[in-house]
Amino acid sequence: MASKLEFARFPAPDGVNGWWESLPPPKAAVAVTSERRYDWVVVGGGITGLCAARRLAELAPDASIALVEADRIGRTTAGRNSGFFVDLPHDISSESYSRSVEADKADVRFQRHGIDYVRSVVKQHQIDCDWRDDGKFHASVNRKGHAALAHFAEGLERIGEAFEWLDEAAIAKVTGTNFYQGALLTPGCSTVQPAALMRGLAATLPANVQVFELSAVKRIEDEGQSKVLTFAAGKIVARRVILCTNAYAATFGGHPNGLLPVYTFASMTRVMNADEVKRLGGTRSWSLIPADPMGSTVRRLITDRICVRNHFAFRPNLEVSQGDLAKAKSLHQRSFDRRFPMLKDVELEYTWGGPLCLSANNGALFGRRADGVFEAVGCNGLGLSRGSASGKLIAEYALGQSNDLVRQLLNQPQPRSLPVRPIADVAVSAAIWVKEFSAGAEL
Ligand SMILES: Cc1cc2nc3c(=O)[nH]c(=O)nc-3n(C[C@H](O)[C@H](O)[C@H](O)COP(=O)(O)OP(=O)(O)OC[C@H]3O[C@@H](n4cnc5c(N)ncnc54)[C@H](O)[C@@H]3O)c2cc1C
Repeated sequence: MASKLEFARFPAPDGVNGWWESLPPPKAAVAVTSERRYDWVVVGGGITGLCAARRLAELAPDASIALVEADRIGRTTAGRNSGFFVDLPHDISSESYSRSVEADKADVRFQRHGIDYVRSVVKQHQIDCDWRDDGKFHASVNRKGHAALAHFAEGLERIGEAFEWLDEAAIAKVTGTNFYQGALLTPGCSTVQPAALMRGLAATLPANVQVFELSAVKRIEDEGQSKVLTFAAGKIVARRVILCTNAYAATFGGHPNGLLPVYTFASMTRVMNADEVKRLGGTRSWSLIPADPMGSTVRRLITDRICVRNHFAFRPNLEVSQGDLAKAKSLHQRSFDRRFPMLKDVELEYTWGGPLCLSANNGALFGRRADGVFEAVGCNGLGLSRGSASGKLIAEYALGQSNDLVRQLLNQPQPRSLPVRPIADVAVSAAIWVKEFSAGAEL
């Protein structure tokens, strides 16, 4: 780290997160308002930071640890997503989610490590977050989508992973809609109510972790053995820092780090009434991703709501406009109407966006950034399972441990550098447009 690290971008409201809104009101936040000292500070209360703080506390029970979050835990991206803990290859820049056999096997090992860790915490503390080990459907709407699924299935066979084909009638029986022509069920994916999970993970952290919310770090100064973190109304002095700020770590200009903040958007319906539930049919809860990674993800929730996610937008300033949200909502409405013509009167109650942290080559930042400063950043669209694993593993690495997965992450590629702005803006936005256009009916 240069002797000072300035934080340039902070979380913005970016619409209204339906997962958060449908939970009971949270406890009052504790913010940093004075000067305090800790052995460790973890910056960022998403899934990566929550797992890093927990693992540090488990391995160093005598250490004092602060977890600091700029907003509320559960209200930002880790509590805004579609809730899929994906275990299998999921390269959203590929046309069928797969890469090479070796890369796919490494991804599966890494992602399952994260899922197993979080599942064990959820079970141990009985966190009420609708954790389900029911798998996910990859559904296609036409021949092109079916070909992509067949390609994905071949990739799964090559790495020895189980899956099951469903024909048009079988997937309609699950979803209640005739929209899909067929699907692949992959059984190892878990799903959650993401905001409930993040809140639950924070509430059950070991006693040597102190959580601060509504506390954005403005800068970190290196004073040799100590790092000084400055907030709007206080300071924390710590011996070591772990950065888990994902998209908010993206830099452009003089020292670009190759991280791309790409927004995606979701909407959630109001609760359906008994008549609407009956008209829809299907099973009470299911989770489905599109055959084309740029299509629509859809979940039917046990709360009788439906959640739709689609649309991407490169937003390097890390906030979206009302126009972005209005466009996303109208795309979600169109996707909803195509799938659920029997639910004409069911409105989309909430619409929101959140930043993924992508890179052009699937690279991420993991390891030591400077003396006493570590980082685990770059979810590449799959932060629930990858963030769980990399948060746990960065804590192990920072405490001097080594294992196969730590070595795997240390050896992964760094994010490939990008052309300077505004060329990058045009190139990334054009690539998104072309891919969305080709997803066509899957949207
Ligand atoms: C609509 C949508 C659907 C998605 N669906 C899925 C899905 O189904 N499965 C999946 O795996 N992924 C999904 N994702 C992506 C997933 O949400 C991210 O990969 C995940 O949140 C990354 O976790 P993280 O902890 O690394 O980063 P984040 O969740 O972004 O957490 C970083 C935290 O750092 C905080 N922060 C930033 N700067 C500061 C600062 N200066 N001081 C203090 N705190 C700071 C932020 O407020 C934030 O809470 C989706 C994302 C969206 C938006």
